[in-house]
Order: sequence, then structure tokens, then C-alpha cells
Amino acid sequence: MRKIALEEHFTTPELAAYVARPTQSDAIFADVERRLADFDQLRLEMMEQTGIGLMVLSVTTPGVQGVRDGVQAIRLASSANDLLAREVQKRPDRYAGFAHLPMQDAGAAAAELERAVRELGFRGALINGQTNGHYLDEDQYLPFWEQVQELDVPIYLHPGAMADQPAMFAHRPELGGPIWAWTAETAAHALRLVFGGTLTRFPKVKIILGHMGETLPFLLWRFDSRREFDLGEKLAPDARPSAIIRRSIAITTSGVCDPVALAAAIQALGEDNVMFSVDYPYEDPQIAADFIESAPIGEKVRAKVCHGNAERLLRL
Ligand code: MN
Repeated sequence: MRKIALEEHFTTPELAAYVARPTQSDAIFADVERRLADFDQLRLEMMEQTGIGLMVLSVTTPGVQGVRDGVQAIRLASSANDLLAREVQKRPDRYAGFAHLPMQDAGAAAAELERAVRELGFRGALINGQTNGHYLDEDQYLPFWEQVQELDVPIYLHPGAMADQPAMFAHRPELGGPIWAWTAETAAHALRLVFGGTLTRFPKVKIILGHMGETLPFLLWRFDSRREFDLGEKLAPDARPSAIIRRSIAITTSGVCDPVALAAAIQALGEDNVMFSVDYPYEDPQIAADFIESAPIGEKVRAKVCHGNAERLLRL
């Protein structure tokens, strides 16, 4: 079946210093770096072998989300977007782009998103988590979200580093990365947009979460129950956290090749809100492709997950 993959990463020579290293293995990381830099043989052969027809490419974590200086972040993001646009132009049938945005400066990020969508033909943006301790529900980002809603493109909220090191991860570095902390960080970031009102104020904005929704699909009932307990009142059905999440958040299967989690996510969010992805080059595309081809779901649902939902949401 035709497959579109949305959480597929690259890097540029300029951003080489801003690539997280979530493995102790030199051999694995060397292979990751080689694949991140490649837009040709390695990537195209892999797509051919696994039946991935189209990849929407994004700068790997943290990229400019890890840059201190705002002026430098603006320059690096723009340059990465130009490089990606050139690669997409060479193979528009194989690649599409998500913009890389300098969230150090909300106005510059909004302007770069507009340029990336209107001039470079990108399909949205992927943001690698918090930027210098700032989260996207802050008031400074209101003009950014206005631009997102106006352009009507999705924002992929991807894991990045934690802003600081909480005691719960002390002396347990393996928990401080993708095994757990990145999930907790990204889920909390998404919940800030839900509980902080961003997704109520901008009801047409669509957020994409990877990694089978960063645990959110499995906690919907609890979010509603504990929010009503917290407030001491019943919420209107469309004001419940679960309703906001179902309306405003879509997820991908990146990095979770588990049919049990897939079935639960489809039931929780609906068959229109789950999309295939790999998380290349950190996950094996063949394992991801075999997983989605063989998952025990109906063929109509499989077609939506593999390509239909992405085609609709990203206008591919
Ligand atoms: Mn990823």
C-alpha cells in the first residue's frame, strides 16, 4: 500500500553541532549521521524497498531549538529551509518539507513559516520542543498561532531536550532521553496548548504529535475526570480536554511499531487522526512498513493511516 511518512529527519552541515545523540553506541550514531546528511542513494533505496512513496522531511532535534542566540537561529533556520527546498525541488514526487522555525523570535518564526509555505511550498512546520525554556502556549506566541491558523497548515510538535534537569532523572541518564523524558516533555508541551487555551483560541489549528501521540490517546478519560475534579464543576462536552485533543491533535505512529497501541490510538482519536510515520533514521523503516502493512485493522482504515489522512491534512 502507498505510504507517506511524516516524521523523517535530515540535517545540514551548518546544523551538525545541533544534532542530539540519543545512543551510547558510536556505530549506531555514525550510521544515523550518515543517513541524516543524505538525500540521495541511502534514502531513496530505503523508500523503494519499503514502499514509502513520499517523505515529509524535517530538521532533526534539536536544530535551532537548541540555539541560544536569536539572530543566529533566524539565519540557520532560513538557510536550512532553503537547503530543504532545493532537495524537494529535485524530487518533488519523493520529498515534501516541514519548515524549521526560530521560535526565539515569534514574529520571525511567523514570517519564516509564511515564506516556507507560500514561497517554498512547504506543508507546515515541525518544532523540536521548547526553545530556551519557552513553550508555545506563552502569550508571546499569539501572533505566531494567528499566522498558523491563517495559513491553515499543521504544526508537528516533536520532542526536544528538557529545559532543565529534574531530580526524577538524576543519575538515570537513560531515562533523560527518548526512552522516557522526551515523551514526558512533549506530552506536557502539548497539554500546555490544550489546558492553556491556545487550541481553544485557535480552533482551526492542527497539531501533530509523533510516537503514537506521546501517551495522550491513552489518558483522555483521566484528563477529563481530573480536570472536572480540579475545577469542581462539570465541563461542557466540547470544552473537555478529550474533545479539544480529538479536534485539534492528530498523531503519527513514528517510533511505535506496536499493533496494540495502534488499535487503542485509532479508537481513542478516530481513524481520521492517525498517520503512518517512521522516525527515520532513528527507527528501521522496514520494521515500520511491515508493522503497518500487517496490523490487524480494516483495509479502509489502513489506507487512511498509510496515506489518506496525510494527503488530506497536508494537502499532498
Ligand atoms: Mn523524530
